[in-house]
Amino acid sequence: MITGQNYIGNTLSAQGNTTYKTFNPQLNEENTSVFTEATPEEIETAASLAAKAYLEYRNKTGEEKAVFLNAIADEIEALGDDLIKTYQAETGLPEGRAKGERGRTLGQLRTFANYVKEGSWVEASIDQAQPERQPMPRVDLRKMLVPIGPIVVFGASNFPLAYSTAGGDTAAALAAGCPVVVKSHPMHAGTGELVASAIVKAAEKTGMPNGVFSNINSSGIEVGQKLVTHPKIKGVGFTGSIKGGRAIYNLAATRPEPIPVFAEMGSINPVVLLPKALESNARDWAKTYAGSITLGTGQFCTNPGLLLGVKGEALTQFTNTLAEEIVKIEPSCMLHPNIAKAYTANKAKAIEQPQLNVVANYAEATKPNYAKSTVSKVKGSDFLENETLHEEVFGPFSLIVECEDTSELETVIDNLEGQLTGTIIANDVELSANTNIVLALQNRVGRIIFNGVPTGVEVCASMQHGGPYPASTDSRFTAVGVNSIKRWARPFSFQSWPKALLPDALKDDNPLNLLRAIDTVKTRAKI
Ligand code: NAP
Repeated sequence: MITGQNYIGNTLSAQGNTTYKTFNPQLNEENTSVFTEATPEEIETAASLAAKAYLEYRNKTGEEKAVFLNAIADEIEALGDDLIKTYQAETGLPEGRAKGERGRTLGQLRTFANYVKEGSWVEASIDQAQPERQPMPRVDLRKMLVPIGPIVVFGASNFPLAYSTAGGDTAAALAAGCPVVVKSHPMHAGTGELVASAIVKAAEKTGMPNGVFSNINSSGIEVGQKLVTHPKIKGVGFTGSIKGGRAIYNLAATRPEPIPVFAEMGSINPVVLLPKALESNARDWAKTYAGSITLGTGQFCTNPGLLLGVKGEALTQFTNTLAEEIVKIEPSCMLHPNIAKAYTANKAKAIEQPQLNVVANYAEATKPNYAKSTVSKVKGSDFLENETLHEEVFGPFSLIVECEDTSELETVIDNLEGQLTGTIIANDVELSANTNIVLALQNRVGRIIFNGVPTGVEVCASMQHGGPYPASTDSRFTAVGVNSIKRWARPFSFQSWPKALLPDALKDDNPLNLLRAIDTVKTRAKI
């Protein structure tokens, strides 16, 4: 049952007076549950409990953390249909998407459980003492990753399960050994509370310290600001807008003790359409892209918002077919009236630009909060001159940039902001003949795709989800897959430390059977 309260550690609490409700965008009406925003005192208690829990939780073994993470997955699964129904009522998304996202969330938690149980993620490295070395002896040095401390996670509006309360950021932080305080997203506070109840149950059942997890309600930015500036918080995970992510990043940097903010923000995911591939297949690619642009009502961080091509018959055919196909796809509901309003306003701002031509616009009347898909077109030179056209329009919108030649295409790519993904549609011959374009694109993105679509993010170790700013605040890390754990850990060295007192990961006899670097050689051997 949804109570509308905060979880301050394991305790439900609602001491404040500010309340709010979530919204059902399909029915265009408020949901009934009333949520109470956390007070400064509740925030203080959550942060203090997290700091206290860290002292115990950071020492949990990989095995113990795995039991906790698997228990969270089991408890979320046990929420059954209540969770799916609440998710749908708060997002307008269909049942299939809700179940799919739940599956992904459970998969992430269980994958992290296996990962920390195996344990080699700590990157143990041992450089043994060389007392005889000349001209100076070498000391014994042993290094491994250790958790950084309590983390604040800002739930994402567009992934209420997989990138929110028990989503990728939370799973990675808990796996690393960091307690988590979630700043619940106000658009899906009920979904958030149900998942939080599962995490708290799992923590109690598996003997985790009170405060290893808290869930904080808020309907405005002040609560998040208080959490980010709290001295006991040591890192932040964020998914959302560039404006929000940048504000939080700046705030964290101005703290007396600055902390890392891993923000995954806007991306328009350029798709480069090389002429030969379009000449042989313009229609099929146009149909495929009509589907990708409108998938999930365009509310994916990997939505293809920018299609870059070279002027000519093939690009014209692609444009015309895309225009025909996209309006055949029935409009769908956006997550919230505010997201729908932002889509309309941002699209209008783009369309107002004098150089831009609309080539397709869904014309029929739609239900409230449903998005009309739009494709527009601009010349390469105009795109280069007008930065407004580089901005994300979050929703089923895409801009075709028609370049004079491949040289202008390369200039356009060079002038793009950082992106999560870049895609190249090409045949093998023109791919090899255009290495400059490939290299230019590689320089602007975190993941490059050949003859496919950017939507659909596989959760696995080789996935990179993060790119040069503003796609993310630190392109060296990923927000998806097991390597995302590295955001929440720091390297730590023991010098000449008594061997019996070393952590198991660094002991001579390698009791955890980890893959370690011993005098730079990777091995599971004992010393
Ligand atoms: P958002 O406005 O960036 O908000 C995300 C979270 O950050 C919310 O919990 C919000 O708190 C908090 N926040 C925002 N500004 C803040 C600030 N200055 N200080 C402290 N906290 C702050 O994103 P959203 O609500 O998810 O969606 C709004 C827009 O973001 C969308 O229309 C879209 O343009 C973009 N977006 C992009 C992606 C992507 O993957 N590219 C994903 C999601 C959203 P409150 O809600 O409590 O104010």
